[in-house]
Amino acid sequence: MRAVILSIGSELMRGDIVDTNAAYLSRELSALGFEVSRVGAYPDVLEELTAAVSEAMRCADVTVTTGGLGPTQDDLTRDAIALAVGEDMYFDEELFREIEQRFALLRRNMPESNRRQALLIPSAQSIANPHGSAPGWWVTSYGAIVVAMPGPPKEMQPMWHEEVVPRLQNLLPGHLAMVSLVTFGLGESAVEERIADVIGGHPNVTVATYAKESGVQVHISARADTPGAAQELVKETESRVRGLLGKAVFGHADDTLSSIVGETLKARRATLAVMESASGGDLASLITNNPGSSEYFLGGVVAYTRDAKSAFGVDAETMDLHGLISPETALSMAAAARTRLGAAVGLGVTGIAGGDSVEGHPPGTCFVALDLPGCQMVREIHRPASREVAKRFFAQSALDLLRRNASSIESTGT
Ligand code: ATP
Ligand code: MG
Repeated sequence: MRAVILSIGSELMRGDIVDTNAAYLSRELSALGFEVSRVGAYPDVLEELTAAVSEAMRCADVTVTTGGLGPTQDDLTRDAIALAVGEDMYFDEELFREIEQRFALLRRNMPESNRRQALLIPSAQSIANPHGSAPGWWVTSYGAIVVAMPGPPKEMQPMWHEEVVPRLQNLLPGHLAMVSLVTFGLGESAVEERIADVIGGHPNVTVATYAKESGVQVHISARADTPGAAQELVKETESRVRGLLGKAVFGHADDTLSSIVGETLKARRATLAVMESASGGDLASLITNNPGSSEYFLGGVVAYTRDAKSAFGVDAETMDLHGLISPETALSMAAAARTRLGAAVGLGVTGIAGGDSVEGHPPGTCFVALDLPGCQMVREIHRPASREVAKRFFAQSALDLLRRNASSIESTGT
């Protein structure tokens, strides 16, 4: 089955926004087993949009559009689809009531212009949008399908997952099974290289990598005559991928380094304390993103200067001898955090997120350290990037160090 993606909005022409929707949908459609034959971006100009939709419907089984479903006069996606399929729009009372209800729930007055969002054509069904006011359109005409979704990714992605994917799955032959693995510590090209033999290794299995800030994800999907056979194909592929990527894999789609570390600590009834400088609090922030972190996280300090580190128990001689950005200081920070707060596990982060080199270390250099009774580990990290990205990466690397050495944490049992 072939698919075409149309991104709609003059903002895309001006470079005001980057077309992340197209990248997202290309990956999603490919993982579902569609062949994406074209991706295009179009301005808010009715004739151009109409021509683009008509052309897409001629060459693809499914056309997916994003953007242009808002209430204003320059939101023309509905009009273009109506013209392309040759139908007149009508005002749908029931759909209008649903939109009204949403505004009522939010205790907001509905602007008159939102009535436009209750327009439909006979070939279109509306698609619910729980995260915004604009409903989507699911259009079936002349054997082709057009799916129109709103532009904002926060509205489009949930609509895609909850409403559109299940309908698309019904179109494809056989049964689909899928799984997503999350990794940390390898770049996207390194992941691809390692699993090269698995990518494209089976006609009914799709394996795609997907670089996210939290690490590289590997999406595996398979199609087969029965649900069981599809599951089996996915399982086999997953175990091959895990074998090739080893410890870089830390879980499935919804897992984060923080949630995995949390589970590990909870299972062992172990507690954690941290001292960080270069990550500026991001480590404590990531840890506390996990619900239930109060069960194992005792606390942390952001000790930025030498004096602050010293005040919280970092060995002065170590800092003077080896420098503030050194494996030794990172270890001393982890040990100081652990002993000061009486935790089972200590993490330390020292480095340089941006600006000029410090102590001969270029920006992006960091040492993350783990301290446990009888186990001291330190890892050197290089991530030249914006301060925000580098800081977050340092914090993630500290969690990753803990995750990889989880087996060294002794269970305090009950
Ligand atoms: P709204 O009701 O918010 O107007 P809409 O469906 O009309 O939604 P647009 O007006 O085209 O969508 O875009 C609204 C916003 O959604 C844009 O300002 C942009 O932030 C985001 N957006 C739109 N298209 C894309 C895209 N292709 N990639 C990433 N973001 C996008
Ligand atoms: Mg709009």
